[in-house]
Amino acid sequence: MSELYVGKFGGSSLADSTQARKVIDITRSDPRRRAIVVSAPGRRHASDEKVTDLLIAYRGFLDCGLPSYTGQIGKVVARFQEIAAGIGSTFDEAMRLSLYRSTGDVLVSLGEQIMGRLMAEALGFAYLDAAAVIKLDTNGRLDMQASIAASKPLIRAANTGVVVPGFYGSMPDGSIRTFSRGGSDISGAIVAAILGATVYENWTDVDGILMTDPAVVRNPEMIGWMSYQEMRELAYAGARVLHDDAVFPARNAGIPIHVRNTNVPERRGTYIDTREKLPPARLGSITGIAARKGFTVISLEKAGMNDEVGFAWKLLGILRDQEVRFDHMPGSIDGISLAIDDRELDGKLESVLDGIRKVCEPDKLVVKRDVALICTVGRGMAQTPGVLAKLASAYAEADVNIVFIDQGASEISIIIAVSNDDCEKAVQAIYAKFVQE
Ligand code: ASP
Repeated sequence: MSELYVGKFGGSSLADSTQARKVIDITRSDPRRRAIVVSAPGRRHASDEKVTDLLIAYRGFLDCGLPSYTGQIGKVVARFQEIAAGIGSTFDEAMRLSLYRSTGDVLVSLGEQIMGRLMAEALGFAYLDAAAVIKLDTNGRLDMQASIAASKPLIRAANTGVVVPGFYGSMPDGSIRTFSRGGSDISGAIVAAILGATVYENWTDVDGILMTDPAVVRNPEMIGWMSYQEMRELAYAGARVLHDDAVFPARNAGIPIHVRNTNVPERRGTYIDTREKLPPARLGSITGIAARKGFTVISLEKAGMNDEVGFAWKLLGILRDQEVRFDHMPGSIDGISLAIDDRELDGKLESVLDGIRKVCEPDKLVVKRDVALICTVGRGMAQTPGVLAKLASAYAEADVNIVFIDQGASEISIIIAVSNDDCEKAVQAIYAKFVQE
């Protein structure tokens, strides 16, 4: 079978005609790029508005019974007119009217739909409505089976070139449902999975995924390669580049994801694939560091806890009854801790503690608030002695107190909890020790 690249271009890559022309050049530069998924035009500069934000604002006016507040739509029309004129496409009357006459999710999806039509015309590709390809179940979640059953037109069109608008799919009753914000990443991954693409290229305005937050560490290195699992761990712990839900469809279909920069396409970008297909990581090296603040750690001690059958079960039963999710549960022989996102405990902390006192009868119960979780990720850490010692020494040298340590079963991540105030210092210390030294 011939190779096929699916490319998703984000809002910043399509913000105006100059950007859209870059997308056309990139697509044309490789005949394998035959399926393109587009976002709505994003911001042209920091204080600009995204087309999707304008559409959402107008939907708000419609919901309040104020259909004549069409200022936002006027701006959207102007944006598309500029793009169409600059890439040699036609922004026609039907498109203009659809912006003024649509409501709800259809209205919000028009940023992607119109962008998709303009790009298809400029590229000489077919345009395929995402509603015909991306099928959702009654809960609005991807129905992969139904999507595959409906995939023939997509597969056919991808032989010669197709543009699919991102950000939405169709419900079983045929109505359109948009995804959460940034959801074109998910559309791209689904299209790549359906087509069994050689690679899913995710084109954006950064060179790739950085090892850590540049607001915390100056000029962190770019991650060249990483596994889907490493990506997932980093995303959970706060790193943001791809939409979280975009990893699964690609991973399940075994399709590598390549994050690349539309503005500097010659850069290497970040390549994400299954661990087995990646070059081996240097032993003891790390891939990235992410951090999330805002956790509460509840710690209990009880002599003989280890001998008590069902102790953890009782403890977790309290969380289940209060509908509280937890993130980590590190333990020792006579003690156990729970790390819980503060938002989960909103208004529930006292009742959870009461439950623990009654049901678990601990000797000691301590609550520590304002905790940050620092997640150090790296497939090179697995089965390598001394990584934890190196991490701990980084913390000691930076004078950061550790609340707890939790190593994931896969050994590719180590979570270290510290107080919120020490969060940045801790990330800098790890980066310095593992990367800069
Ligand atoms: N246009 C949508 C948003 O701004 C979806 C996307 O760009 O991925 O969230």
